Parts: sequence; C-alpha cells; structure tokens
Amino acid sequence: MTSYPHLLSPLDLGHVTLPNRVLMGSMHTGLEETRDWNRVATFYAERAKGGVALMVTGGMAPNNEGGVFPGAAGLFTAEDIANHRIVTDRVHDAGGRIAMQILHAGRYAYGPECVGPSPIKSPISPFPPKELDADSIEKQISDIATAAARAREAGYDGVEVMGSEGYFLNQFLVTHTNKRTDEWGGAYENRMRLPVEVVRRVRQMAGDDFILIYRISLIDLIPNGSTWGEVVQLAKAIEGAGASMLNTGIGWHEARVPTIATSVPRRAFTWLTGRLRPEVSIPVITSNRINTPEVGEAVLAEGCADMISMARPFLADAHFVRKAAEGRAAEIAPCIACNQACLDHTFSGKISSCLVNPRACYETELVYEETTAPKKIGVVGAGPAGMMTAIVAAERGHQVTLFDKADSVGGQLNMARVIPGKEEFHGLVDWFATMLGQTGVTLRLGTEATADTLADFDEVIVATGVLPRDPGIPGQDGPNVLSYIDVLRNDAAVGQRVAVIGAGGIGFDVAEYLAHQGESPTEDLDLWKQEWGVGDPAEVPGGLAPEGPRPEAPARQITLLQRKAEKLGKRLGKTTGWIHRASLQMKDVAMIGGVNYEKIDAEGLHVSFGAARENPKVIEADTIVLCAGQEPARGLADALAAKGIAAHVIGGADVAAELDAKRAIDQGARLAASL
Ligand code: NAP
Ligand code: SF4
Repeated sequence: MTSYPHLLSPLDLGHVTLPNRVLMGSMHTGLEETRDWNRVATFYAERAKGGVALMVTGGMAPNNEGGVFPGAAGLFTAEDIANHRIVTDRVHDAGGRIAMQILHAGRYAYGPECVGPSPIKSPISPFPPKELDADSIEKQISDIATAAARAREAGYDGVEVMGSEGYFLNQFLVTHTNKRTDEWGGAYENRMRLPVEVVRRVRQMAGDDFILIYRISLIDLIPNGSTWGEVVQLAKAIEGAGASMLNTGIGWHEARVPTIATSVPRRAFTWLTGRLRPEVSIPVITSNRINTPEVGEAVLAEGCADMISMARPFLADAHFVRKAAEGRAAEIAPCIACNQACLDHTFSGKISSCLVNPRACYETELVYEETTAPKKIGVVGAGPAGMMTAIVAAERGHQVTLFDKADSVGGQLNMARVIPGKEEFHGLVDWFATMLGQTGVTLRLGTEATADTLADFDEVIVATGVLPRDPGIPGQDGPNVLSYIDVLRNDAAVGQRVAVIGAGGIGFDVAEYLAHQGESPTEDLDLWKQEWGVGDPAEVPGGLAPEGPRPEAPARQITLLQRKAEKLGKRLGKTTGWIHRASLQMKDVAMIGGVNYEKIDAEGLHVSFGAARENPKVIEADTIVLCAGQEPARGLADALAAKGIAAHVIGGADVAAELDAKRAIDQGARLAASL
C-alpha cells in the first residue's frame, strides 16, 4: 500500500492516460542552446526513467521577436525538428511523455525587436516593445500555432502555451500593459481574445489527440492585474477553445513578491488552484513550492488540484517519483528552493544545474560509475563537501569512513537551518544523513581525525571547512562582542541594539535571525502573506493587498555594516538578493556601507568613513556580531603535508573566499567521481 495514493493514481486525458499526477514543470536550463542534442536527450530521458508522468520543456520561441533573448531556441527549421526528435524519441524509449512549452516573451523579450500590446517598457527590461498592429497580431497567433504543429512533427506529446508570469499573452489580459482601443483591448472580452484565439488555433493545427496545456496566471501580484472573476472567465473560455489542462502561474516576473524562493511557504498558492478547480471541467495543475511527495499528496487529497507541477525538484532528483513509489521518499534529494545553481545560472547566461545534485544538466559529463578498484577512503569533515564526497565515493563501491569532531553531520548547513526562511535546510541535512547510512559510509562523529589516524587510508580527503576571519578591530575581545557561531550555533544572548560587522551571506542571515521573533513566516502562510502584502484577487485586481506589506515589528534594532562603498547585499544571489534586502528593510535594519571599523567599547561600535577616516560616528549597540568572512581551516591539511601523506583538500579548507554549499558539493561530487 503506497503512502501516496492520490499522487500515484493515473489521470485519464481521453486520448492518453498519464500514469500518475506529477508533471515536471518548464525550466529554462540553457541545454537546448548548447545544441548538444545527446546531452538534452539524456537530461529528459533520465527524468522519464525516474517515473514523472509528463515533462514540459523550457520555453521555445515561436518566432524571433518572441524569443526570451535574441537567438533563443525554437522549432524554426527542418533541422530543429529533427534535433528535437532525438529528445522525444529518447523520452519515449524511456517510457515517458514530453510536451514542448511555447513561450512568447512579448515585452519581456531581451532584445530591441520585442513586441507587445502597447509600447510600455517593463521595469525588468531595457527595451520598450513595439505596439503590434492587427496584421502583426495575426502573425503572432499563426507563429504560435505553427510552433505547436512543428512540436507534434518533432514527436512531442503536447504543448504548453505559456500564458502567465507576465509574458506576451498575459500582457494582453490586463490594463497594466494593454492600453489598446481596438478589438484586442478595452473590455475584458477584447483583452482575453488573444489567448483564447491562440488556444483555438493551436488545437486546430495540432489535432485532437495532442495534449494542450494552458498556463494561466491565477494571481498577477502587480497593480491593475486580473480580477478573480476575469481569471475564471478566461479559464472557461480557454477550456472552450480546446485546452486539455490548465496549469497554474503565479506572479509576474516584475512582481515584488517572492513566489518560489526558499522563504516562500510550501504550497503557498495551491489555495488559488483549489478555487479554480470547480469552475472548469478539465484537469487543473498546481505549482510553486511543492517539493516533497507528502506535500503533493496532501494538495491532491484536499482537492486543490488534479495534478501537481514541480520543476526544480526534478533538477535535485531525477528519480523523485520512482523513489516515492518504491517507499524510498527519504532518499529523494530535496530541492531547497535556493535558486543558486538553477535560476541564478540561467540569469547569468550559464547552464542550469542544482546545488544538491551537480549532475543535473551535466548527466553526460559527470558520471558516477561503479569502481573496479575499491579503495579505503578517509574523509574528514561532515559538512556539505565532505558528505557529498563520502556519499558518491561509497555509492561507487569504495569503502568510506567520514570523520567529524562534532557530534552531528551538516557542518555549516546546521547554521543555515536556524535562519527564518531557510527551514528547507533541515530536509537537506536529513537527506545527507539518510544517504550516508544508505550508501554504507562508516561515520566517526565526535572524533578529531589526525594525520596518524589517516595514515592507513588509500585516499584522504580534507574537508575541514572554515574558521571565522579575525577582523582585528580594537576592543573585539570585549564582553559585548560575539561571533556568528556564538549566535547561530550556541544561541548566545544578544542585546536589543545590535551592530553586525560584515554584510555577506552570513551577515544577512544573522540580521534576519536577530530581527525575527516568534514563528517564522515561512511556517505560517497567513503571516507570510501579511508580511509581503499578498491579498486575494477576488478582493483586489492582481491580488496585492491594498494596505501593502505589513511585517511584524522587528525584535531588535539592527545595523548591518560593510567596508565596501556599495549597496549592501549586491553580491547575494542574482534572483534572491532582492528578497533578502527587502526582508531586512521591512525589519527596519539600517544598512551602512563604506565604513572603517575604528574600535569597539561599552558604547558600541565606532566607525569612520572614507580613506581620510572622516565623520566619526558611534553605532550604539549592546551587542556587536562579527560576520567578517572566513579563512580555510587548514590545520589538518598542513599536518598531513608535514608527514608526507597526500590528501585532496576541498571545500572551504581549499578556498574560503566565495565559498558556498554549491561549490562545496560540486567539488566533492566531482572528486568522488574521479577516485
Ligand atoms: P562573505 O560573503 O565573504 O562576506 C564577508 C563580509 O565580511 C563581507 O561583507 C565583507 O565586506 C566583510 N569583511 C571581509 N573582511 C573583513 C575584515 N577583515 N574586517 C571586517 N569585515 C570584513 O562571507 P560570509 O558572510 O562569511 O559567508 C561565507 C559564505 O557562505 C559566502 O561566500 C556565502 O556564499 C555563503 N553563504 C551564503 C548564503 C546565501 O544565502 N546564499 C548565506 C550564508 C552564507 P567588506 O570587506 O566590504 O567589509
Ligand atoms: Fe532547487 Fe537550489 Fe537545486 Fe535550484 S539549485 S534546483 S533551487 S536545490
């Protein structure tokens, strides 16, 4: 008897029955643009093998003007169709199904050729769109329908027409971006004409025995977005035009409300899909921040949707569904919604991967082959680098012993998980612990490994991590000074007025930790909605609460400082830095850059500004927390070198600068694959 009866039940779509209720949502990985079709096919085939019912590709451009950026992938030539056939054949051979997403970016297209309903530039793009005339609108419809026909020719099982997230079709729906007065603008019947016509023509071109998903925006999270009545009206019309299913879209890309980041509560928006479901008779798919089979099962059991969509969780673990079905849910590598290796890569022009699973999108390059020469391997340090090395090496058949002087595994991840909004790190540490057991790694916790202990191993891996950097500020040994470790790991008492020295990832985390009191909003959906000003589209168009964000009062008066004279948090994650900054601003955290730290005394922290050390100022504080970066912990590496024992030094022990779990895990996995 399965624990997930709803998740694993089939879904009859008429001409085809899907084996379960799990869809892999569309992700732009950058793979198609490599034109390495074996690599693209391997990525999707791996996920098909993993049991997902249906996958949706990254967005394919229907034409040049609609591409997300100039040269974006699409089905334009016979060669393109043949290349995509390589992918669909491999997916079908693996027993899977795949639909192609057709994405017309409209004014979000990052190029001067972009088009839209009205010439209104988006706040996230430098290019104002050209206003389309009636003939050009017909061309867009025709191009989208042609893309669907080509998708069918390329062997796809269906298409998803992207109608949400503020892209082209969504732009026609709302007066925020559509100021037209012709038959494509004005009254809602006119504004919704384009998406409905697109769906009708796609169905006409692609035939009845073809899956047609329409991704509908249920809450735009922008001013003058759609009302709930309009959403329902559109959903019914889209059903009437021939869609097989409706997928959920949440928030425009320009919205200033986080919708998928780790601090967003799990399944934060399924209440909207649940509200839409009784209004239509085709299946509805829900999405956003669903990352475990338990959550997916609960959403379906409560009747919020007919199917769940997860995207990033399939980067973290290609075999999510199969493991759930086999009763091995604890072995599913969890997506922690950090965006660090997926969306942050996409927006930096790099190929996506996954912090938790460096093989994602690198399946053809990073292979964990069974070893033909098992070795005795000693790994020191049970942080992310050491744990990943140990797991991959053991999985390959090596005999691995993992040492850590602490009594539990996790290393720095144990500090991340106490931060409000980073609760997902609990699941990550649990997964590492499960996999260490599952792969047969011998754990030696509470054990300080020495050069002598390690002398008998065939390979020694030093992943001893980092030590806090000594910033050398006069007075830093005083009783009012703590390190981030005292605060996050040892729960040291912190006063009411706090100065945080250093505004890197840890400085921001410490400020977040100290600004909150009571339950984390990530664990309380109503509180989170209140904090970010998320309302109800049935009450206000677009679903932004009229009263705006209403954060809880800060627990402390906090000043966050750095020496660099630049915006604080500038170097945080590309897609998440703004969330961390906004969150601290909502807690009235003062952010000061360009300082010199002069001294610390009972009054607080004395700073000055600029090379001439001008404008001296006292930041009055009861507690000063040092978050001034880190240095490699190389004691063991040096001791091994002194004894002539060769060792691989990885993670923070190797290079502490710009260290994060992504680099640590990637380095560990690649080393283990090579041993
Ligand atoms: P970090 O990002 O390198 O930041 C160190 C901070 O200390 C900077 O603000 C730096 O700014 C300051 N600093 C450096 N040398 C100093 C000195 N001698 N005296 C005073 N201040 C000094 O390091 P971290 O905050 O310790 O984070 C470590 C790593 O963990 C990061 O690289 C990060 O990627 C990762 N992490 C990530 C997250 C995340 O959310 N993704 C969260 C936590 C940690 P100035 O030099 O301008 O003063
Ligand atoms: Fe999820 Fe982070 Fe991996 Fe992206 S990088 S898939 S957000 S765990």
